Amino acid sequence: MSLIQLLPDHIANQIAAGEVIQRPASVVKELMENAMDAGATKIDVNIKESGKALIQVVDNGSGMNSADALLCFERHATSKVRKADDLFSLVTKGFRGEALASIAAIAHVEMRTRLESDDTGIQINIEGSKVVSNVEAVCANGTSFEIKNLFYNVPARRNFLKSNQVEFRHIQDEFERVALAHSNVHFTLHHNDSEIYNLTPGVLRKRVVDVLGRKANDRLVPIDESTEIVELKGFVLKPEFARKTRGEQYLFVNDRFFKSNYFNHAINKAFEGLLKERTFASYFLFLTVDPQKIDVNVHPTKTEIKFEEEKHIYSILLSSIRLALGKYNIAPTLDFERETTFDLPSEMRSKPINEPVIRVNPNYNPFDSNTSKVTSTGSKGKKSENFSDAINKHGFGTKEAKTADWENFYSIEDSSKEEETAPLIEEETTPGISQFLIKGNYIFTPSKSGFMVIHARRAYEQILYTDLINSFITNPVESQTLLFPLEKELSKNELASWKSNAMMLKQLGFVGEIKDNEVHLTAVPSVLQDETIQKALDRIIETIAHREIDKGEIAHELVHSIAKSAAMKKMNLNSMDAVNDIIERLFQCENHAYTPGNKQIIDTLSLESIDEKFR
Ligand code: ADP
Ligand code: MG
Repeated sequence: MSLIQLLPDHIANQIAAGEVIQRPASVVKELMENAMDAGATKIDVNIKESGKALIQVVDNGSGMNSADALLCFERHATSKVRKADDLFSLVTKGFRGEALASIAAIAHVEMRTRLESDDTGIQINIEGSKVVSNVEAVCANGTSFEIKNLFYNVPARRNFLKSNQVEFRHIQDEFERVALAHSNVHFTLHHNDSEIYNLTPGVLRKRVVDVLGRKANDRLVPIDESTEIVELKGFVLKPEFARKTRGEQYLFVNDRFFKSNYFNHAINKAFEGLLKERTFASYFLFLTVDPQKIDVNVHPTKTEIKFEEEKHIYSILLSSIRLALGKYNIAPTLDFERETTFDLPSEMRSKPINEPVIRVNPNYNPFDSNTSKVTSTGSKGKKSENFSDAINKHGFGTKEAKTADWENFYSIEDSSKEEETAPLIEEETTPGISQFLIKGNYIFTPSKSGFMVIHARRAYEQILYTDLINSFITNPVESQTLLFPLEKELSKNELASWKSNAMMLKQLGFVGEIKDNEVHLTAVPSVLQDETIQKALDRIIETIAHREIDKGEIAHELVHSIAKSAAMKKMNLNSMDAVNDIIERLFQCENHAYTPGNKQIIDTLSLESIDEKFR
């Protein structure tokens, strides 16, 4: 008789489970990640006794049909990887098909799931890998898991668990990591029936502040850098607020939390000389890289990740954080400058990235048909100065410029009827940072790699929006009392919506009394001016009464409405300082490329394409 025997499945599962599920927090992580992978926009986590009594995760994601609902508990059952190649382009959190099999092996599991297209769903109960019941169920679409008696059949593990306080801290950590990586998803966390978190969707800054606490809002220094190798976004905490523990160090790659001593080293180096003794930098950094260039397969719980280009990423982290900290210490500088001074490590300079070939003839006049074709080549400083000199000399900033050509170029769709053409500004002579205003609304500015065009009104809208959101998170928005209350008749539905949103409206600076079927507005946010109040009020009513959006989105929509109305006010861009101010404030916004309504704010015209135009 052979001495070797195959372990029965349930024992094999139980052993394997130990790798994936070490404590209640691991269950929370796996279930939340599955919910994310299922496309959920709302995820509720309920915990009792730090997960020792109950872990419940409810999502509104895709759900499963009854066949998949049974299959999902099998080891290596996954819908996320079909062929070996898929492993190299992972965009999902899970891919091993191990989590549910592991959880089912060591706990009592109840799962209810329903596809949106089905009338009924299915409820499955599993204990120690055995299906004990499998019935049709009436349930919400999406999936809900209830995990009880975790480690009931693995006493060693159960005895190994720490105090409730420690175990819950682990749960909260996992919850925060997922929540931080997905600020557009609504998450709640309850422990023993009390609410720990209710994180409504919003921009990343809001999510970070919601997790860290309101005070954090003023303490964050934004990081935003984009290179061919990595896109880097997020925040570091100003050095004077550094903590005595390493608690708040978050790194994410492609929205997945990971740990890296190596990158942590780069970040600390960027803080060198700025931190008090025995304090640690806090950071929330989001890297986006080509999924082919990382390996998430190295660790069963996937918190260690191998990067193909880790040396470059190290340098980029170091230099962009240093730069951001420097910028925050000195007066903020323009982002275009930042691009040119961005200090890439020398080994990367040799790589063929971001080095456009500029062909400029300083004597070339685009409006003079006799001028000969452009021939000189090069890419560094001197030549681009010549380029802007050439532009300056040849009238792009003067009334004679043939702006029509540029308009065609940019297909300027809405140069906004509300605005008149302002007189063009005489450019200052500083080469390289001159701005020109065209049609009172388009700011043209040379950048290293060409030309940037900024839609001023949209830029202003984004600036107001960001300011309002930031102050709204921490304080009521500043409001001004109206000399004469503004009266507006509302329908029944509109009145009801006004009443049910009165608290939020007040927080936003709108104070009104309801009299019969009218609202009498007595105060409005101070960013609004006489001519923009009415429009804002209309937009607000439209948002609260006529649009089908859930509560979480309303605040954002309202802030957006206020910003949009306030931006309608005629902007004073009649001085270089005013134009510079807009640019500077725009680039302090976390998102400076699009308005909250997703309209483009900035376009760039590369030197190559300008060159192409004149070929
Ligand atoms: P993996 O996430 O690695 O694929 P899991 O064991 O975590 O493996 O899940 C197995 C499969 O069950 C998933 O691939 C997915 O198809 C399905 N599944 C798990 N959780 C959910 C959920 N909340 N909603 C929809 N499908 C789910
Ligand atoms: Mg999974």
